[in-house]
Amino acid sequence: MTLAYRSGVGVLLVDLDDTLIPDGAARDSAMMSTLATFGELPALSPTEIRVWPVVREEWRATGLRLVPGLLGVSSWEALWTDFDAALADPEARAAGRAYQSRVWRRLLHESDAAPAEAVFRQAREELVRPFGWVREGLADWASVHDLWCVTNGSSWLQRRKLDLAGLKPYFGEVVVSGEVGAEKSDAKFGAQVAERLARTGSEPVAVVGDSDASDGALASFLGVRHVRVHRGTQPRLNISLDS
Ligand SMILES: [Mg+2]
Repeated sequence: MTLAYRSGVGVLLVDLDDTLIPDGAARDSAMMSTLATFGELPALSPTEIRVWPVVREEWRATGLRLVPGLLGVSSWEALWTDFDAALADPEARAAGRAYQSRVWRRLLHESDAAPAEAVFRQAREELVRPFGWVREGLADWASVHDLWCVTNGSSWLQRRKLDLAGLKPYFGEVVVSGEVGAEKSDAKFGAQVAERLARTGSEPVAVVGDSDASDGALASFLGVRHVRVHRGTQPRLNISLDS
């Protein structure tokens, strides 16, 4: 099922991570189970304090954050990104693989990082499930508006998550920061969304998302409401049906 464009119907722009699927909680849970698998949990727990700063430091050191295709990718998402699938440049691919390997070698004190990489990736993929309200909520919204997904991250990973969560069919368009070459908070991203809306003869209705910094910024660029999402809870749109 792909929703066709309906003329005169407004577009609801919807964030993905921590709006429709868990991000922070899934990240922590996958990390805990990976550390437990390799016997490092007692030494490294709690993960928030001891592990994520290491991951962030290594990601920053790669310089990959400025690669256009990786704009908006967080350090923890880079940990399960398939860089060979996500990037064309062989040097950048190698730098991404080296980053993942360095993180696990540092955390687990193992010379071979491949087993931990595989365990983390699998644990993380298994957690790409929509929050309880999402399927029914999106179906309700889609009966009134067209839905577009607007999301920060690499094209490969964000589209893979939409696939794994079974959410792709709800969205007429998907706009990813790594494809635009600008993060959601950037005017360039907003301009790209505005251009696509104009091309399809559509008007934006609101931006639905958990982040003031990114979803809020996109909403104000487009001059529409930001419907703030509290993780795991369906937001009330409070938008008139004929808007
Ligand atoms: Mg979000």
